Amino acid sequence: MPDVAVVGSGPNGLAAAVMMARSGLGVKVYEAAESAGGGARTSELMETGHFHDVCSAVHPMALASPFFRAFGLSSRIELKTPELSYGATLDGGRVALAYRSLERTATELGRDGGAYRRLMGPLVRMVEGVTDTALNHLLRVPRHPLAAAVLALRTLEQGSPLWGRRFQEDLAPALLSGATAHAVGRHPSLAPAGAGLLLATLAHVEGWPIPVGGSAAIVKAMTDDIQAHGGIIETGVRIDSLDQLSSAKAVLLNVTPPAFLGMAGNRLPPGYRRSLEAFRFGNAACKVDFILSGPVPWAATELSDAGTVHVGGTREEIASSEAAVADGRHPERPYVLVAQPSRFDSGRAPAGRHILWSYCHVPAGSTVDMTARVVAQIERFAPGFRDVVLQSKVTTAADLASYDANYVGGDFSSGIIDVFGIIKRPIISPVPWRTPIPGVYLCSSSTPPGPGVTGMPGFHAAKYALKDIFGLPVPSLGRQAS
Ligand SMILES: Cc1cc2nc3c(=O)[nH]c(=O)nc-3n(C[C@H](O)[C@H](O)[C@H](O)COP(=O)(O)OP(=O)(O)OC[C@H]3O[C@@H](n4cnc5c(N)ncnc54)[C@H](O)[C@@H]3O)c2cc1C
Repeated sequence: MPDVAVVGSGPNGLAAAVMMARSGLGVKVYEAAESAGGGARTSELMETGHFHDVCSAVHPMALASPFFRAFGLSSRIELKTPELSYGATLDGGRVALAYRSLERTATELGRDGGAYRRLMGPLVRMVEGVTDTALNHLLRVPRHPLAAAVLALRTLEQGSPLWGRRFQEDLAPALLSGATAHAVGRHPSLAPAGAGLLLATLAHVEGWPIPVGGSAAIVKAMTDDIQAHGGIIETGVRIDSLDQLSSAKAVLLNVTPPAFLGMAGNRLPPGYRRSLEAFRFGNAACKVDFILSGPVPWAATELSDAGTVHVGGTREEIASSEAAVADGRHPERPYVLVAQPSRFDSGRAPAGRHILWSYCHVPAGSTVDMTARVVAQIERFAPGFRDVVLQSKVTTAADLASYDANYVGGDFSSGIIDVFGIIKRPIISPVPWRTPIPGVYLCSSSTPPGPGVTGMPGFHAAKYALKDIFGLPVPSLGRQAS
């Protein structure tokens, strides 16, 4: 048995394993699936030669993450970062566009340009502090109090009925709501608003990159590094009990609270056990992947240059789609998140062909195939879309849950995204990664700062395990140390 056992090879399990292996410890990662990567795998879902990201596809959070910055991700893999981070579709061929330049974005937003610039400008100028606040634990004293305060005030505005106060037209609100709806939940509400403001800020700075070769390139960079430092990754091995790992000095669990309850048996004190039992999951995603005979025929032709397109209409329509999901219904006109990877990474599809990645929100546990509604929504803003679709493949919320045990009911955030769900993840503590069992740590996105390919839950858990069990500091993660 190695010094350290890591259960689960999602981005967070791998981040923890990178830290431990680089500290000179013997590390073994156990992964239930046949390949490493969790929500960052890429595969030929339909035809050979067409490479689809099974879950995550676009990586502003990875680019901004303190863990991946220290790891030097952007020097290890090739990232294609579109100048046009994302667009929001409106009827009549109208469109709102978020460029890496805030100035250009504001200029194209018409009468609301100034209001948008005043909302986003301070966040963009304080991007380091905003990112540091959002990608760490909210119960920590902020290292950048001014940036934290500006983010908090803007989140209060955009997450409340005041959200339309500064705008006169529909473009800027639709642009903001498209980013906000990355987090599943009612609009306006605080946690999605905070997530949306972070994503919008990143869109105007370093952008929303797409990895060449797909998200699997991120996983490969991490597994290569672990193996270069002596770590072992064993796939096809499911861990159901901590007894299977009893001789490891430290165990890092890239699993959800209910899975941890199952693994720990009766070793957890009643209070902690009750907290895990009360852990809440959120609603889910239904994913639809496409193979296309050509690019999407967007009515607003500018959208062909966007890495991501938020297909949902006005702010009110996006809010109504999210409200339907919150009420347990499947929206007729869903808010659809679309990414166009092959527009920027030509290796994803044979010449002339394209792949398209999309998903919409659905109630937890849904088995409903949303393909027809997703196609109808895209067709609404890209007439002729149906004619370029060669094949599609649906992954329902229930399928997602079977694909990755961490997506309980299809909840790809591994825990609800509301204010309490962010603070109590899975317990209210300045160090929620530590568990009452000495040497055992939780490192999944059910811990702060939550979902997204950031590696930060893994980073924090490993930092405490290194300190508590081995008396070691955070190692150097950059290439020069290998
Ligand atoms: C459809 C979809 C789209 C997304 N899009 C994006 C995006 O564009 N950008 C972004 O940043 N994020 C996106 N996400 C979210 C992102 O993928 C997740 O937040 C992230 O992968 C969570 O990382 P993790 O390491 O905590 O867990 P996961 O990536 O879920 O990995 C957990 C791993 O642990 C393994 N495991 C669990 N239990 C056991 C066990 N008992 N024994 C052994 N192995 C076990 C699982 O098999 C899995 O491989 C998306 C997610 C989905 C589903």
